[in-house]
Amino acid sequence: MNEFFNINPKLCELGKMIKKDLKPVFEGIDEVTEYNQQKMLSAFIKNGVSESHFAGSTGYGYDDRGREILERVFADAMGAEDALIRHNFVSGTHTLTVALFGILRPGDTVLCVTGTPYDTIQFTFGIKDAPGSLKEFGVKYEQVELKDGKPDLESIKSRLKKEPVKMVYIQRSRGYSLRPSLFVSDIERIVKAVREIDKKAVIMVDNCYGEFVEKSEPLSVGADIIAGSLIKNPGGGIAPTGGYIAGKAELIELCANRLNAPGIGKELGATLGHSKDLFMGIFNAPHVTGEALKTAAFAAGIFSALGYSVTPEQKESRADIIQVIQLEEEKALIAFCKGMQKGAPIDSFVTPEPSDMPGYDCKVIMAAGAFHLGASIELSADAPLRKPYAVWMQGGLNFHSAGTGVLLAAQSMLEQGIISLENI
Ligand SMILES: *Cc1c(COP(=O)(O)O)cnc(C)c1O
Repeated sequence: MNEFFNINPKLCELGKMIKKDLKPVFEGIDEVTEYNQQKMLSAFIKNGVSESHFAGSTGYGYDDRGREILERVFADAMGAEDALIRHNFVSGTHTLTVALFGILRPGDTVLCVTGTPYDTIQFTFGIKDAPGSLKEFGVKYEQVELKDGKPDLESIKSRLKKEPVKMVYIQRSRGYSLRPSLFVSDIERIVKAVREIDKKAVIMVDNCYGEFVEKSEPLSVGADIIAGSLIKNPGGGIAPTGGYIAGKAELIELCANRLNAPGIGKELGATLGHSKDLFMGIFNAPHVTGEALKTAAFAAGIFSALGYSVTPEQKESRADIIQVIQLEEEKALIAFCKGMQKGAPIDSFVTPEPSDMPGYDCKVIMAAGAFHLGASIELSADAPLRKPYAVWMQGGLNFHSAGTGVLLAAQSMLEQGIISLENI
């Protein structure tokens, strides 16, 4: 029995078994975590981070030494020439949008080579109409579809042979789709294919959910620029908000000119006392990413033992922190999210309900009991109420707590009579 939670003893037993079974997987995750943590630590040491760098600036934020060092540390950890890491990026979508508008000019073509991109960024490209899109500014968007869920290198090459493009855009993570997320080695294959034909195109990667999952990042295999959100992996669960862009120095300057103003670039931006949280966040990021990966593997183990189809499988190598569980029916999704919410440190008493969301053609239910509103490096789950009734779950500040959240999701399904433990 569990001393603190009402979890069925058989389910607790199953949890123990899965953890035992996952030992080699967890060892693999720990090895990557240790490598990335040492990489981060050495970037802190190399740049001489000191308590005085935590002091906040106000107004224009001129000569904010902490902000400059933070960007140096993060650039070093990502293998970048330079980086922008700012609390005033309002979301991942905003960060990606700043990078796209920073680099692209009227008449340019951006070629997305990983099929339909993430929902919210479709408005930026103008795939879906929104005032102010790149399309309105005369930037053309084209897309190469995935083939069997993988980048179609031949089609990418034949498109590039026809006419040069300004930018090749790669989305690393699956987003709310069922395609596999890309490993850094997949990105390397895309980069090689692109460079066979086009030496100049800027290769940009939407790196959301992929940071610190592997020992290398896309920049080390030839990508020119990457961007992501600080309430996902690289904020380590501590950054309260924000985003980052990292890569070639000349591109970072363009992005800074777009974020701030031409001619001003990186030199401005008051940190308002957020620097310590951002330093601490990036410092913790490799570790917290490891905890999220363990939580994902554990959830895959539990729910595949309960008979559900999961992707990735519990022992499969992971390219990001997302776990999909196909729950087959609406009431299972709802029970899952309600149970997971009960295991959240914040707002555990809240009951999630499906509701309409802008940008979706059906109701969506979400479980999120996080210190930072909407942070998906913290244990969270979302599910659109449509076939195959899959839940996308991710995050977990620490496995010990997030694993309990996973068990409570299963417990809730058990209480609703959706699963049985007869054959376990
Ligand atoms: C989360 C995510 C985004 C956008 O981030 P928001 O912070 O939700 O705006 C973009 N692309 C991918 C692949 C993501 O996972």
